[in-house]
Amino acid sequence: MKLRISALNLLSLVDIADHVSIVIWLPGCTYRCPWCQNAPIVRGEHVKEVDNSELEDLFRDASVLVDYVHVTGGEPTVHPGELRIILELARRHGLKGSIATNASRPEMVLDLVEKGLLQHVAIDVKAPPCDAGLYGRVIGLPQKGAEAATKVVRLIKALLCSDKVELVEARTTVVPGLVEGREVEAIAENLSMMPCRSSEHDKLVYVVQEFNMYGEFLDPNFKVRSKDVERVNEEAWEAARKAAKRGLRVILRGSIRGVAEVKP
Ligand code: SF4
Repeated sequence: MKLRISALNLLSLVDIADHVSIVIWLPGCTYRCPWCQNAPIVRGEHVKEVDNSELEDLFRDASVLVDYVHVTGGEPTVHPGELRIILELARRHGLKGSIATNASRPEMVLDLVEKGLLQHVAIDVKAPPCDAGLYGRVIGLPQKGAEAATKVVRLIKALLCSDKVELVEARTTVVPGLVEGREVEAIAENLSMMPCRSSEHDKLVYVVQEFNMYGEFLDPNFKVRSKDVERVNEEAWEAARKAAKRGLRVILRGSIRGVAEVKP
């Protein structure tokens, strides 16, 4: 059977905190974040077919080194068939399942969790959930901000309270002029009040991602000056430190500093 994917990375040390993964990108997305730098994937321009037997061979060979298969995009729930088949193949070869999602289709994610196909979920928290107007602007769908923010909060709560999920990553990318230090602090405050966290084993990790000015923007008019990028990435670092002081485990991910656990 042929599966349509955008790209595949056989070995990643940065996509899941503390774990090594195979990463598969699926094309298409439910949102239209103007600052998105994965425009060709979101528009479905980079698509190739792989046979599921090829994936099986890869998973079998990689299972000595890798512990997760991480499916990302775009938004991987746009392709429920491909997503499920990839995660089932992973499980068949003793690998755990992981998804990066914008939370626009929370029922599908929870269904995969219930079926035991996902042990790690990374969720974009694109803006403070209490600011529906900003949320809508950040995802490029102004009329959908309130709905998107509500879905994010509900999904994180459900996952934290599920005993089938081992690790939940909430991820925020800073964006000059839209999501800066103040917004990261507001998101961290919201996350620090999430239920079902335990001091012995906190499943929640907050990942603050620096802005990367390279790549192909979804909205070519989204012009970013390099000095704004430097400023917002410095703010991200400061906000991440403040978030760690709230008792959250915080990781900063960026092209300049790499991946670093942030100490309070
Ligand atoms: S940044 Fe926005 S548009 Fe780009 S893949 Fe993520 S959710 Fe989709």
